[in-house]
Amino acid sequence: MNHMRNLAESRAEYGEDTLDLGPEEVRRLVHELRVHQIELEMQNDELRETQVTLAASRDRYSRLYDASPVSYCTLDARGVVIECNLTLSQLLNRERRQLIGYPLARNLPPEDQPILLDMLSNRALTVEQTLRFRSHGEEQKNLNILLKLHRLDKPDDMGSHWFAAISDVSSMHRLTEELRVKSAAIENTLEGVLITKANGQICFVNSAFEKTTGFTLKQVQGKNPSILQSGKHTSTFYQEMWQAIAREGHWRGEVWNRRASGEIFPEWISISTVFDDERKPAYYVGVFSDITIEERMRERLHKLAYYDATTDLPNRHLFMDRLNQAIADSRRNNRQFALLFIDLDRFKNINDTLGHSTGDHLLVEVSRRITASLREVDTVARMGGDEFMILLSNTDAEKDSQIVARKLLATMADPFDLDGRQYHISASIGISHFPADGTTAEDIIRHADIAMYQAKEHGRNTYHCYTQSFDEKQVVHLDLENDLRHAVRLESLELYYQPQQDLASGNWSGVEALLRWNHPERGLIPTIDFIRIAEETGLIVEIGYWVLRRACQQFLSWRRSGLDVGCVSVNLSPHQFLQSNLIERMRDILGETGMPPDCLGVEVTESAAMPNFQYSVRTLVALREMGVTIYIDDFGTGFSSLSHLRHLPIDVLKIDRAFVSETPGNGDDVAIVRAIIAMARTMNLRIVAEGIETAEQLAFLRQEGCHAGQGYLLSRPIAPEAILRLMR
Ligand code: C2E
Ligand code: MG
Ligand code: MG
Repeated sequence: MNHMRNLAESRAEYGEDTLDLGPEEVRRLVHELRVHQIELEMQNDELRETQVTLAASRDRYSRLYDASPVSYCTLDARGVVIECNLTLSQLLNRERRQLIGYPLARNLPPEDQPILLDMLSNRALTVEQTLRFRSHGEEQKNLNILLKLHRLDKPDDMGSHWFAAISDVSSMHRLTEELRVKSAAIENTLEGVLITKANGQICFVNSAFEKTTGFTLKQVQGKNPSILQSGKHTSTFYQEMWQAIAREGHWRGEVWNRRASGEIFPEWISISTVFDDERKPAYYVGVFSDITIEERMRERLHKLAYYDATTDLPNRHLFMDRLNQAIADSRRNNRQFALLFIDLDRFKNINDTLGHSTGDHLLVEVSRRITASLREVDTVARMGGDEFMILLSNTDAEKDSQIVARKLLATMADPFDLDGRQYHISASIGISHFPADGTTAEDIIRHADIAMYQAKEHGRNTYHCYTQSFDEKQVVHLDLENDLRHAVRLESLELYYQPQQDLASGNWSGVEALLRWNHPERGLIPTIDFIRIAEETGLIVEIGYWVLRRACQQFLSWRRSGLDVGCVSVNLSPHQFLQSNLIERMRDILGETGMPPDCLGVEVTESAAMPNFQYSVRTLVALREMGVTIYIDDFGTGFSSLSHLRHLPIDVLKIDRAFVSETPGNGDDVAIVRAIIAMARTMNLRIVAEGIETAEQLAFLRQEGCHAGQGYLLSRPIAPEAILRLMR
């Protein structure tokens, strides 16, 4: 019926009141209408479907918009938020309604607000800026945000809009900050830093590198570190180094490199590999420090340990090394060699009348003449005082050594020019042969020494070959040894005390006990000399405990007289240090005398402590536990490695006189003293300088922060009563 009504309506529409239609016609129309209707229904369906799809898509879009990891919002021309996504509301910790309708700038710290306004007035299509946003909440935090504005020019009335995409770059910002701090650290460290790519090309060096090597980043960038090579190492050295890096990822050691100036220098370098994600080497980082000073110190120590400072000749130590070497070689090859012992005649007169510096002058000249008359392969050494020793290697017959002896006497015959005047000086030479006169170093030396005395007996200025019948020197030595035994028994040894001063306050801070032996016939015997005999004979152990007991008693006696000397230190000889019952005996003496252990110090030399390292550590720990202060005496001359020293439980380091005596004039020694003080500080040790003789030395040491000093300038070693007068 609906259909009929439609038909009537359409008739009305066409202005026909009546329609004369045949049945055929009507059927056709009805059919057409049906088709039409079906089409319409189909269109309706499509529309519905499209609507559903549209709704779903809008839904999806808005979910996407809201849940996007990036925060979005739309702003009007004045920067007021028109809409925003959920991400933004979460980022700023504000509900959407607290954002929409308000200026976005409200979420910025006041000083950043003008920047946003600036961006909004920009004519460009997109502007970008990192700003600090404040996240709202209990504890406000600043977010570093990258704000990207896109201008949306709306065709309608609404004017221009901004579409803003906001991302939180705080973590990146933090990372950048961190990188900045780290690179500042690399830039400012005192250690040189060099970074190469895996192919060896330098890509970075820091300013310490530039300062140390003299090469700028520009000069080395893209080059291989081999431009620094000094030529001092073999190619095997570098091969082994790179093998270690490949195997373990890192390597450290000493390398000599060349500065831009051409000068070569030692450095302590550690090289490590930086791997990429696939564990393949991507970079190599080298960190190094210039150890020129330490190297110089090592050389200087070596020189001090093995060479005589006055003449530059090898000293007794080095000579003994060479002699033992010669004995081993000669034994192996069935060869002979000769030893010549030279002693200047009446040298003491020159020293006493013209002074020590002229005496030294003469020694230098003598050593020059001796050296000039020998072959390169021979060794000349100064054994101390005016005694020289010559090792003639590969002498095939006894007559060779006599020819040399005659030549030496001849070169001495020319007068010596001293202080503008000419002096004649002669020498007496004793000769012994290996293996005829002995097969150990001790025997050959002793026999050359005896032969030299024989030469003196024969009227000086001559030489003498050792003959077994004559052993006078040994008798002298024996005499002294007997006298010393006697002296120990009779307690005719004495202790003198040398005060130490605290350099900062100028107050006396302690005393060192030093042995004196006034021989009834020979007078005062040099301490070093009789200590040597005491060491050789083992008498030193008894003497050592006598010294210890006497020093403790003295300390308490001063105390009774109202004087507090601070700490009294005694020297422990290597021999005594190695006694297995040292700790018990020390404890007994402390108990017996009532000495407070914290007022007692023991001085041990490096050479006593180093060879038997484990034992030394144990003994020193035990001493320290008793409360006794541990001093390392004559530091520097023992030639021990600084790193070893770190493992010894010690309290005080005494810088040897050899280093102090040439400060502040000698640059090398100044550097060494500074280095020792710096090292001692890092190890928390107290530093005492020995042998201060001049006001300049004192001022220098005080300025360098040395804690205490001892030396003739402050006071010589003096008798106990004198200490009482001086310190009170
Ligand atoms: P040391 O322990 O290094 O003692 C310092 C030495 O340097 C002392 O020599 C002292 O008189 C001297 N001296 C101090 N200030 C100066 C100065 O300004 N200039 C110069 N040129 N010398 C100065 P001394 O008394 O002849 O003793 C020499 C060494 O003998 C001592 O060196 C120590 O190793 C050893 N010694 C001394 N007394 C004893 C002791 O009781 N027992 C042991 N085992 N050794 C001792
Ligand atoms: Mg000492
Ligand atoms: Mg000393």
